[in-house]
This record gives sequence, C-alpha cells and structure tokens, in this order.
Amino acid sequence: MIKTPGDVKTYKKDLKRALSNTFLGATLDAFASAYPASRANAFSGIDFEALAAEIARAKDESIPNLEKLLEEFTVQAQKAGAVVHFARTAFEANSIIASIAEENGVRRIVKGKSMTAEETFLNDHLERSGYEVTETDLGEWIIQMRGEGPSHMVMPAIHLSRREVAELFTKVTGQAQDPDDIGAMVRVARSELRRKFLEADMGISGANFAIAQNGAIGLVTNEGNGRLVTTLPRVHVALVGVDKLVPDVKSAMRILTALPRNATGQLISTYVTWITGAVECKSAPGSRKSMHIVFLDNGRLALAKDPVFSQALRCIRCGACANVCPIYKLVGGHNYGHVYIGAIGLVLTYFYHGRQNARAIVRNCLNCRACKSVCAAGIDLPRLIKEVYGAILEVEGEKPVKNVLLEKTLGNRRLFHFLLRSGSHLQAPVAEGRFLRHLPLIFSEEHQFRRLPALAKVPLRDKWEKINPVTQNPRYKVAFFGGCLTDFVYPEQGQALLDACRDLGVRFEYPMEQTCCGLPALMMGEKETARRVAVQNIKAVDPAEFDYVLTLCASCGSHLKEYVNLLSDEPLLGVKAAQLKDKVIDFSSFMTKVLKIDPSQFLAGGGKTAYHAPCHLCRGQGVREEPRELLAIAGLEYVQTKDEEVCCGFGGSFSLDFPEISAELLKRKLDNVAASGTGALVTDCPGCVLQLKGGMENRGGAIEVKHIAEIVAERRK
Ligand code: SF4
Ligand code: SF4
Repeated sequence: MIKTPGDVKTYKKDLKRALSNTFLGATLDAFASAYPASRANAFSGIDFEALAAEIARAKDESIPNLEKLLEEFTVQAQKAGAVVHFARTAFEANSIIASIAEENGVRRIVKGKSMTAEETFLNDHLERSGYEVTETDLGEWIIQMRGEGPSHMVMPAIHLSRREVAELFTKVTGQAQDPDDIGAMVRVARSELRRKFLEADMGISGANFAIAQNGAIGLVTNEGNGRLVTTLPRVHVALVGVDKLVPDVKSAMRILTALPRNATGQLISTYVTWITGAVECKSAPGSRKSMHIVFLDNGRLALAKDPVFSQALRCIRCGACANVCPIYKLVGGHNYGHVYIGAIGLVLTYFYHGRQNARAIVRNCLNCRACKSVCAAGIDLPRLIKEVYGAILEVEGEKPVKNVLLEKTLGNRRLFHFLLRSGSHLQAPVAEGRFLRHLPLIFSEEHQFRRLPALAKVPLRDKWEKINPVTQNPRYKVAFFGGCLTDFVYPEQGQALLDACRDLGVRFEYPMEQTCCGLPALMMGEKETARRVAVQNIKAVDPAEFDYVLTLCASCGSHLKEYVNLLSDEPLLGVKAAQLKDKVIDFSSFMTKVLKIDPSQFLAGGGKTAYHAPCHLCRGQGVREEPRELLAIAGLEYVQTKDEEVCCGFGGSFSLDFPEISAELLKRKLDNVAASGTGALVTDCPGCVLQLKGGMENRGGAIEVKHIAEIVAERRK
C-alpha cells in the first residue's frame, strides 16, 4: 500500500531525498524538455484550446447524467452478453472482482495497466485472497516486482534507470542482465510475460471509455499486452470509473484525438481496442468469454454534484499536467501525488484517498498554471488545488499561524500598511542597501538561496502625489494598481512607469484605498479573506472611472481578473469584477498596443537582454509577444533563453514553505540565463524580480535584474 506523509515536515524530507537523486532529476528534465516540441508537433493543424473546450463542454454535459448513462450502457452491454456490476466503494469493487474469480475457478490473473485498479489497490486485495496477479504492461510489471506504485499515470516506471531494471531482471531470471542491452531486457520481459498470458484464467483491464450508446469499452495502449489481457484468458473483467462513461462514439473519438497527443506527443497510440460484449473464446466453456464490467463510484457520483469540484471528473488521464509541472519535474510522481500524480493527483487524492494523504502534498503547488495550460479537458487545476487546501483547513479547523496572521492583517488595510511601514523602520539594523544583511531568525539555513530585499524607506503611495506629473488633456485615464511589492518594496518600479509614459498623454491615478490583491490569501487556502480583500479593491478602484487599470505585477493582474470567480455570487460587485477583468492591463501591452510607442522615442543600440516570462503573464493573461516586442522597440537586443516560460520558483509564500524546491527552480533559471551570455535580465512581475534579483545577488550580481518598466524608462529619449 502506498504511503504518503500527512505532515509537511516528513514530506519535506522525502522531497529533499528526491532532489538529491540526480538520475531522477536528469531523466525527468530530459523528458520534460522534449515533451513540448513533440506535443506541439502532434497537435499541428489542430486548435488545442478549441478541442479542450469542446471536451470540457461535452464532459460537463455528461457528468450530471452519469447514472443515466450507466443505465443505458448496462442495457446495451448486457444485450451484447456482458455482465455489468456497480461498486460504490473501492473495497466493493475489489470484492466483486474477487467473487468473479472465485465463481469462475480462477487461479492466475494477468492485468493491463489501469489507474482505477491502482486507486482500489486491487492487486493487494486479490493477492491476499490467494490469486496470482501479474501486471503485463512493462513499466507496471517492473514496479510491481519492486513493490512500488506508478510514478506517472502513463509512464509508470519513468523514475527508474536501466541499471536498476537490469538488477531487478537479474534477480528475477537468475541470470546476469546487461543494463546497456535494452533489447535483451525486453526479450526477458517478453518470454516471462508470454508464459503468464498463456497460463492465465482471467484478464483484468481498465478502460478509457465506456460508450453508453452501444455498451462498448475502449482501451488506448502502446504495448500489445492490453489486447492479450482482454482476448486470451477465458474471463475478462474491466474495472472502469463511472466518469469514463460517454454518451456516444463521437464523444469517445473526440477524446481520442486529444489523449495520445497530449500524453506522449503521439498522433495515435499503437493500439486502440474496442470491445463490445462477450466474444468468442476457445478456452472458455461454450467457446464464449465470460465478460464483466465493474463500474466504480468511490465518491465520483457525489463529486459530480459539486459545483466547484465536478470539473475534476472531466479528466481523461493523459498525464500532461504532470509532464509540464516544474515541481513534478524535480521530485517525480512518488512525491508529487499519492496514487494519482501530478496536478490532478493533488485534487483527486483528497476525494479518493482521504484528507491524510492529501494534506501535505496539496500545499506543494506554485500556482504557475502550466498544468492548466495543457489540460486536455480544460480543468482549472491550480484553482481546484487551492480549493482542496482551503477545504482541508476548514475541516481540520486548525490553521497554521501564518494563516491566522494573514487573515487578521490582510483583511484590514490600515493595519496591514501600518505593519509594513513599521517594518521598514524596524529593519534598519539588518538592512544593507536594498537588501537585508541577515535573514530574520524565523528563516532557517535553507532560505539562504537568495537575498531578501529590504522594505523601501518611503512606499510608493506616500510619494505618489509628488512624483506623478500633471497631464493636461490626457488621452487615457489609468488607475495604477501597485500591489504590495511595488508599493512597499520596489517603489522605483512605479517611478519607472511614470518615466516610461512621460509626455505620452496618460493621466495615472493611485487609488489610495487599494490594498494587497489577495492572491497570497488564496494561495494559503484563505478564500474568505481573499474575497474580503477583493471587495475592498473593487470599491477602491472603480473600473467604470478609468480607461485601464494597469499593474506592473503579473500576479496581481491575473488575480484581479479572477475576481469574477471570487465574487460570482455578488450581483453588483460581480458586474464590477467583470468590468475590472476587461480593464486590467500589463505594462508591455499598454506600451505596445495602447500607446503604440515606436523606436524613435527610444535610444538605439542597447545591449543583450534576456527575458523571464512570469507565469501569471504568459499563462495567466496570455501575454507572450508584447514584452519581447517592447524590448526591441526600446532598442534592446532580446536574447532567448532555455525554459523562458518555466516558473522561477517564487510562487509567493510557496518559496517560504518549500525553499528547497524554490531554490532548485531558481538555480536552473539563473543557469539558463547565464548560459545565454546576456548582461541583463528583465521580467514584468515584482515577485519574479525579488526571486531572480535575490538569487543573482547571491551569485555575485554579474547579471543585472530589473523590471521591464525600469529598463524601458531608462531608454526613453
Ligand atoms: S500550478 Fe504549477 S506547480 Fe501547481 S500543479 Fe500546476 S504545474 Fe504544478
Ligand atoms: S487533469 Fe487534464 S492534463 Fe491532467 S491528466 Fe487529467 S486531462 Fe490530462
């Protein structure tokens, strides 16, 4: 049985162990680096966003009708000679399958890969009941012999080296295996498994689809084992989650268009198998196979009724949300999930395997949105992860101290700003220029991976009136949303905005009642606090009074756009939130698309400049080309770096909670920038500036790190 720590302290030990596994890091990195290109090739000519939206729409139609689809499926499957069972729980599903085995005099069972069987721990149950069970997917067979669970939903043994596999095969066969002769190892697997197929009385598979229209199931596989499992033995049992029910063949084909492409970058998997009812089978009594389909509920039907979490049932198990997750890439699936891994694993674990297994892993999310951007079913995974964390805090009724402090301070703007101002005075003994000399005692050794900035002596809001020039007959009236970091740590970025837009016909205003955008509260599972803060900001910055609401903070910008979700049940404020969503704009888009600046307004001949794309700008707001365009207009030579859109590891309070992960992501980011030979690195989020500048400072500050507004302002004529 898989064990996942329920406490963060133990979990962090596991994370550190995984981070020190250089093979794991290199393998996952190699896969993650190759995956985007093969995925892009596979989707060439297909509008992925439209396809994902179509899958989401169709799934959302089916999810409330799963029971009806099950009835329809049962009628059709029974007509075709299959027996259909329904299991409310994992235990019930395992017991039904064990009874089928007993009734049919089964001794040996072969199994195809099935995440649903992993979910119910079917092998453990059957083995305890005295059956011999052999996994026949190569990766599954390997991990079964090692007594492990899968570390990826599609590639279960991706965490193992060929040396480890050779050692295992040497033990199994009693003959030394050469780790460099992969062909020989495959032959070992083939000869061992062929024997098992021929001896088996029962085959167990999962299913990717169960089609209500005709009672057929569909299996998408890459090894021939799926076909052997479902055809050779005289009894076939398919264990299927009720969420795999689709109304018709067309719906299944739509999912099939996305599944292999998103999973492994294949146009189509090697085998797609469709099975309708009990087919002819020479080894079965009466020459007809005994075919059973066991549908598993295990909480799915209740989940289907939940207005927020039901979208988790759209999942088609492609595993793409793990493929692109920067944390999965570092620590692998055994540390980034329980049975189900990756982003969807952080959500499903809570529902299928309980709070204890979910409570530590669900906190390990940067909110970088990489998973959401590739999800074949358009699931808002980062949001669901935060909702699960919030639900766990609520059920447990005990909050971490920092949550209590945040709740008390963030909900009260005056108190919050008073504390920040006081901090700027109190830090004097430990401040050294723009950085803190020593980290406060609450931070341990592992936080030394970056220098932390000092709070500004004078926040932006206190000098705004003085530095904001009067603009006569402005073309645009723009509210500036500062966010905590620009306001209290980097007011020079606000100054840069005013300098960059000098004489371009913009009147900026700084609504003084604005406060933190509230994203940190949401990240910490404090939805109610986040809501209160959203209300305060909507009241402070009335979007109807401005042409745009500009922020230099990508995280604030994308979160302000999400107020519509937070305030969806507030009729009047909901309307304001929708207006705000339309008016929020980032610096680069404002300069290039609204002000339409041109090179004549800037000095020519600037140096090489690398760009880090903040998660909340490129994925959160879909702004990708504008910052690069802006750099070129401002006379700079943009240099592309590896993994430009991969998170820098900041993630707000994430970098405080999981410094070991944050440090590794930062290291990789800065290594990539250093390899590009540039002298400057810009980005457009003060959070990323904090992380990148602090990390670069620790390396001796060879590359200058700035907000893009600063470098653009410097180059204005
Ligand atoms: S938001 Fe980022 S860190 Fe969180 S699960 Fe998704 S990909 Fe991973
Ligand atoms: S959540 Fe989305 S990306 Fe992740 S496995 Fe499911 S369908 Fe694929």
